Order: sequence, then C-alpha cells, then structure tokens
Amino acid sequence: MRGFWLLLVLVAAATAERVFTGDQVIRVNVESEEQIQLLQALETQQEWELDFWLHPVSTELPVDIRVPRGSLSSVMEYLSANNILYSVVINNLQELLDEEKAEMVVNQMKERSTRSFNFGAYHPLETLYSWMDTLVAEHPNLVTKQEIGRSYENRPMYVLKFSTGGNKRPAIWIDTGIHSREWVSQATGVWTAKKIATDYGNDESLTSLLNTMDIYMLIVANPDGYAYTHTSDRMWRKTRSKISGSVCRGVDPNRNWDAGFGGPGASTNPCSDSYHGPSAHSEIEVKNVVDLIKSHGNFKSFISVHAYSQLLMYPYGYTCKSVYNQAELDSVGRAAAQKLTSLYGTKYKVGSICNIIYQASGGSIDWSYNLGIRYSFAFELRDTGRYGFILPASQIIPTASETWLGLKHIMEYVRDHPY
Ligand code: ZN
Repeated sequence: MRGFWLLLVLVAAATAERVFTGDQVIRVNVESEEQIQLLQALETQQEWELDFWLHPVSTELPVDIRVPRGSLSSVMEYLSANNILYSVVINNLQELLDEEKAEMVVNQMKERSTRSFNFGAYHPLETLYSWMDTLVAEHPNLVTKQEIGRSYENRPMYVLKFSTGGNKRPAIWIDTGIHSREWVSQATGVWTAKKIATDYGNDESLTSLLNTMDIYMLIVANPDGYAYTHTSDRMWRKTRSKISGSVCRGVDPNRNWDAGFGGPGASTNPCSDSYHGPSAHSEIEVKNVVDLIKSHGNFKSFISVHAYSQLLMYPYGYTCKSVYNQAELDSVGRAAAQKLTSLYGTKYKVGSICNIIYQASGGSIDWSYNLGIRYSFAFELRDTGRYGFILPASQIIPTASETWLGLKHIMEYVRDHPY
C-alpha cells in the first residue's frame, strides 16, 4: 500500500498539475451599481489572484469568483466591510476536480476493455482526435476530417466536414471549446457530430439540409489550451502562446478577432484571462479559422459554443448598437431557445451579447457577422453556476441533446432563408 501512495505522489509530482485544494467558488448576487464598482475594483487588483468565472457587469447577473485558499480571508473581509453578501457555491474546488478525474480514469479503462467511446464522458485531446477517425470511417460518404492548420504548440486543428457533394455549397460553421476549460462545450461538439452523422438519411429535415448545405465543425478550437486543462491546469481558458515582455502566457481567443479589437471588455494585461493579444488575429488558432471562412466564402451561419450561463446570443458584443436584422436574430434565437427548453425545461436567456451579458470586444461572432454571415450566434451552455466549468459528466448527454434542438432550429431556419 505504501508503494502505491508513493507512486501516486511521484506521478503527481511528475505531472506537476496545479491543485486547487481549499479554493472556493463564491457567488455574489449584485444589488447595486456601487457593488458592481467594488467588485470591479476587486477584479483589477492582482494580489489575491482571483479568477472571475462571471464578471461584475450588471445587477441582473450574479458574479462567480474562484478564490484561492490563501486569499479567502482577505476577500471575505473586503466583502463584509462593504456589506456585500455572498454564498459559497463550491466549498473545495479540488474535491470536484478529483471526482472528475477519477471518473475519467474509470471511464478510460471501461472504454479500453469494451473498445467503445462513451459520449457521456470527458476525454483528453488524443482520444477525441482518434474518435474523429472512427466517425469518418463509419460515415465515409458524409464526413471528412480536414486539418485547417496547426496550433501555437503545433497540434493539428481538425474540422469535421459533413457534406453530400457539390462545390462550396452554402455552409454552417459550428465551433466548440474556444475557451479550453469549458469542457461541456467540446463534449457537446462530439455528441453533435455523431448525431448529425447518424441522423443523415434517417431524419428527414436534417437530410434535406445536408442535401443542399454543408456543416463544418471545429470541435477543439483551442487544442493547446484543452491539452493543458488535462495535464496542468484545469482552469486554463486562453491559448498557450508566449507573449513578448511578459511572464504570463496565452491570449483570450475570443477577444482576439478583428471586431472592435482592443475595445471595452477585453484586457491589455497579458496576465488577465481576457487579454486580447498583441494584435487582431495574432493567435494562430484564430487566424486558421479566419483563413478558412474567408477562403470558403459561402458560410451562411457561424455558431460558437461556450459554457456556462444558459444564454443564446447574437451580435454585437463590442457595441450595444443593434445589428440591422436584430429582430430576425432575436426571433430565431427565441424560437431556438424554446425548442431547447422543451426537452428538460432548461431555461435560456436570449439577446445580444452586449445587452445580455456585457460589452466584450474582439469576439468571433461579431467578426463573422461583420464579414456578412448574417446568422451568427453564440451559446453559453449549462449550467447557471452550481458547477460552472466543472459540469458533471452525467450532464453531457442531456446538455448536448437539448442544445441539439436549438441548433437544429437555427440550421433549419438558415436552410429555409437563403439570401
Ligand atoms: Zn467561453
């Protein structure tokens, strides 16, 4: 037994994975403008190393903060000194992460012995990539895997293309996992790809869609970040690029697009989780997508999938000005959310990014919209904060299944409204 523990310690030391023992996630239900400002001040100070899962932006939305164990007493003092009430949502983050990891290990053994893939589990990058080959092998006349370029750390970026023929047919883009720690996003992407492949030829509506349009899915939009969340830091959100002149690494790949780049809601500080990067499209992961979308030239819809908060949003984020077809996007979004809710009652809010969460510049769907892709949407999947980024694997399939109804509604609308 002693040997076993020693081995565990050695493995832990060798992998040098970041631990979050005693870290708490707390929630503040903001009551006033003044409290927002006090929380914003908390967010800008760096000493306590706080990780804002949800930012202080309005009295309508809660604020979730991961507080490192060492900063708990300082943060509590600050909040009570300012009469800000909070509740502890996650008491010890590491416990949740240990459970998540143990479940993955057990699942891996099961998958190996049964030679199967469990859609209701989280997987490391290599497993997702090899699963893509399986999907292509099972559906050779529908699915192809295309490398659209490499990541900063030279990992391939794969797009699954669902196509029944034709040349550059009108197309729908879906990306998941641009923020690496939002694991239910990539997992939903995987389930969705399988769903599209199996429903083609069986579901009349999807079949008709694929007889005239193509679907492109980038399931791991930030492969370096995703690999890093598995090996080193489960809370990693950004890319892994080196920033000259800074000890901190990585850019927020959803602040890096050429749409209001560098404006409000993005940080100039390379150590921030919302650092916009040295220039628009500085991140190769972003650039690869930009190049593909531009060279294709016939995308009609661009959908980016995040977690968490249960929101369905359309442009803009960088400004609160309405887009010209705001009424249309709003009604498509509402109908899609209604479909989503119909399965399990999961409630979604619908609106523009700027109005529904906060002004955020350099986001992907603003860029795609300005390029002329009229049906640009972003999802924030489950949940509303009980688990946040550590959504239990048991919720993957329910999340993906309900999201599919929303996605499908948008795709059908796009099919029926060529312009
Ligand atoms: Zn995100």
